[in-house]
Amino acid sequence: MTNADGTAPRAPLSSWPTPLEPAARLGLRLGLGPDDLWIKRDDLTGLGGGGNKVRKLEFTCGQALAAGATTLVTCGAPQSNHARLTAAAAARLGLDAVLVLAADPGVPHGGNLALDGLFGARVVWAGPVGEAELGARTAAVADELRAGGEIPALVPFGGSSPLGALGYARCARELLTQAPDLDTVVVALGSGGTMAGLVSVLGAHRVLGVHCGAVEDPAGTVGALLSGMAGPDGGHPDAGELRVRHDQVGAGYPVLTEPVMAALTLAARTEGVVLDPVYTGRAMAGLIAAVCDGDVRPGHRTVFLHTGGLPGLFGHPDTLARAAEDLTGR
Ligand SMILES: *Cc1c(COP(=O)(O)O)cnc(C)c1O
Repeated sequence: MTNADGTAPRAPLSSWPTPLEPAARLGLRLGLGPDDLWIKRDDLTGLGGGGNKVRKLEFTCGQALAAGATTLVTCGAPQSNHARLTAAAAARLGLDAVLVLAADPGVPHGGNLALDGLFGARVVWAGPVGEAELGARTAAVADELRAGGEIPALVPFGGSSPLGALGYARCARELLTQAPDLDTVVVALGSGGTMAGLVSVLGAHRVLGVHCGAVEDPAGTVGALLSGMAGPDGGHPDAGELRVRHDQVGAGYPVLTEPVMAALTLAARTEGVVLDPVYTGRAMAGLIAAVCDGDVRPGHRTVFLHTGGLPGLFGHPDTLARAAEDLTGR
């Protein structure tokens, strides 16, 4: 059982709290009341381009430093925001970073990958392998480092472990201070740690996760993380009680969908807020669908958790092409 975050060591990587901003124009366009929709700006976590992985890294890096680590080792997709922020955290803390990425070296090097290079991370190209093989490769890389005299700290896929999820337990407490009458938080569900941390404090009924296609069994993944954490009153919701939408995955994790493009455009044009095609765009498309089917209703305070991802937009050629169409099309 992971300790409450009061006792786990935390390496400060940003300034807290992040802002909670009203989004009245967007809320009205969705069919909510003018005071219903708010955006929690966790894209503004101030390290390395920002995003939700910073809160998780405060705890995983706190543990790594306590263990005397010299090198952070993690894995992910080539446009992984988590890998990019692990590289930034390593730079901030004076550690080395090794990123084991599920791609060939010929993959386009824009977006997050360009930042990985800027932060001085070493990339190991694992080829287009599945999650299990990527994990095995990452463990092997850590063993090699250890044999070479380094002290590696393995940061889990997406930063999601019961320890990393404490970052979002902390965020949930921050949110309750900013919006005590909070009804629902809408969040992108990737590797699950963000949703698990929120649920551990807010309860299952107040968190709506939008599955992004990063894992096979999203509710099971969140449930497994929760079972390693302390719940709000000791108990844990079972996976069946978790609110998870599965309707925004489309043709798969890296593929842009029409509802996501519509969500990106709407958020940009009503609030000047930029979403990304993989995570926050799916979360916003899920919120739009949830208002349509009555799962999110007017007259209740809804918080959209903006988890970042802007560098990923610049690493996503289809989204860039679609956005550029509007420069020439009118
Ligand atoms: C990783 C990520 C998420 C999903 O968070 P998990 O804790 O992995 O579920 C959401 N948004 C962005 C931008 C991310 O990079």
